[in-house]
Amino acid sequence: MPLTYAGPVYRPPSEADSLILQVTLGCSYNECSFCAMYRQKSFKKRPLEELAREIEHVRRVEPSVRRVFLADGDALVCSTRHLLEVLALLRAAFPSLARVSTYASPQALRKKSEEELRELCEAGLALHYLGCESGDDVVLERIAKGADSQELAELGLRVQAAGAKLSCMFLSGLGGRARWEEHALASARLASAISPRYLSLLTVTPVPGTPLHEQGKRGEFELLDPVEITREMRTFVAALEPRAGIVFRANHASNYLPLGGTLPKDRAAILAALDAALADPESAPFVPEDWRGL
Ligand code: SF4
Repeated sequence: MPLTYAGPVYRPPSEADSLILQVTLGCSYNECSFCAMYRQKSFKKRPLEELAREIEHVRRVEPSVRRVFLADGDALVCSTRHLLEVLALLRAAFPSLARVSTYASPQALRKKSEEELRELCEAGLALHYLGCESGDDVVLERIAKGADSQELAELGLRVQAAGAKLSCMFLSGLGGRARWEEHALASARLASAISPRYLSLLTVTPVPGTPLHEQGKRGEFELLDPVEITREMRTFVAALEPRAGIVFRANHASNYLPLGGTLPKDRAAILAALDAALADPESAPFVPEDWRGL
């Protein structure tokens, strides 16, 4: 899209064809220990007039926009009134608009009632991406997520009760060697409790400049190797008990073994692929370390 962005800009892989609209810059929370995305950016809510000019600019060159992703890290932290005004501008500009989505941090979500989320959903904001990262409260505390598993479950259920779709993200390896099993099992419990429409498993990669990277250097956090990550993923997938079909994806650039399917329907096939890799790691199609898009 012909826009000038205040970089760097991040969006979920599934929003590759969406217009990215920076409703905010940075992340208002910016404290998760593994996250390097917005450390260099000061948080700012952008005024409606600026957004209106940008939307009008895109409308003139690309009026057929169907999907819009509201960036940066937690656009949902804006007031409901502001977001409704942005959504009205988008609907007026793009007659084919089918979906608006955003990252929803726990800090932003906890300020939105179910009624507000429903109002936003009816105005077009129908998909939220919630980074749960882990269901293990010890891990959540260590990574400074700012929410425990019970609150994450409540927030995820609130989004869905409001009629919106939810995509939850978890991070393989986040428990380190010390808590890989607790992390896998508790994450499966949380994912099952929420039973989101979409579930993504990414693999943690400590980025220089983050507290997690520093913890790694001090020996306080031990990264799992590809086989250990595979074992953790197997534990997670085997323990999932979703209430309805979940679209499961573990094909992010950070993953060693790209996998996907619908759970529980494809569980046996996914477990078979993981078991095959565990049985013969030398022949497993692990993505080489230097190919991982990190
Ligand atoms: S809420 Fe999201 S964007 Fe903000 S620091 Fe945490 S992971 Fe990063």
